[in-house]
Amino acid sequence: MEKLFPISINPQLCKRCQKCQYSCPPKAIFWRNSMRYVDYNKCQGCLKCVEVCEHGAIEVISLEEGELTGFTIDIEKCTLCLECTKEDFCFQNRYFFEKEKKKIIFDDKDLKNCFNCLKCFKNCPNNAIVPEILRT
Ligand code: SF4
Ligand code: SF4
Ligand code: SF4
Repeated sequence: MEKLFPISINPQLCKRCQKCQYSCPPKAIFWRNSMRYVDYNKCQGCLKCVEVCEHGAIEVISLEEGELTGFTIDIEKCTLCLECTKEDFCFQNRYFFEKEKKKIIFDDKDLKNCFNCLKCFKNCPNNAIVPEILRT
């Protein structure tokens, strides 16, 4: 089963009116570095936020339904561009380059602290960051 998720709020279009935050029944929209993000694990996919946004700032994607339990790196797609290791890519800097193995490692320690924002998934230029979804 697939479900629609508003994964991020475009900073160029967002006017910071907060309507999306007020409209969200499970309070899945949170605020970081003056921008709003959606907690994938709380979002119910009702798309009320998309409806109320008068600026078309909310991007919607389709993903499998279920709980987000982490991320894997698709080594076929990863070009080792190292974008994911830069500050600001992930709020928690969970992506590292392992020199010996020449690959990207996702740090899954204390995963409960992950914001489930899917920012990493959305921002990998090569679509190499793959969400692990536990079907519920
Ligand atoms: S789709 Fe619904 S539940 Fe998800 S962030 Fe928007 S308002 Fe909240
Ligand atoms: S941003 Fe994507 S392609 Fe670039 S190193 Fe990270 S996982 Fe690989
Ligand atoms: S969803 Fe991705 S970008 Fe967001 S906090 Fe978790 S690992 Fe970092």
